Amino acid sequence: MSEAICSHLDAISSVKPAKRHECEECVKIGSTWVHLRTCQTCGATLCCDSSPHRHASKHAHASGHPVIASAEPGERWLYCYPHDAVASY
Ligand SMILES: [Zn+2]
Ligand SMILES: [Zn+2]
Ligand SMILES: [Zn+2]
Repeated sequence: MSEAICSHLDAISSVKPAKRHECEECVKIGSTWVHLRTCQTCGATLCCDSSPHRHASKHAHASGHPVIASAEPGERWLYCYPHDAVASY
């Protein structure tokens, strides 16, 4: 990581990719999503804040897992919720 804004982003040495290209929680409730994010603590792939259910944000706040990566093809960035920090990789 280039910017040392956040200890969580600094601690990530390899980025977890999305296991499946779908939101695990939206699939359970038959909903849809806009973009996908992958939790870098547990590897869950969940939907972004533009999606109706914002599962990635809810997961971060409920679990305390701080960092997500974009799971969109061609996007290479990480985001830390507690620090509101972004890093590209
Ligand atoms: Zn952080
Ligand atoms: Zn979702
Ligand atoms: Zn997680």
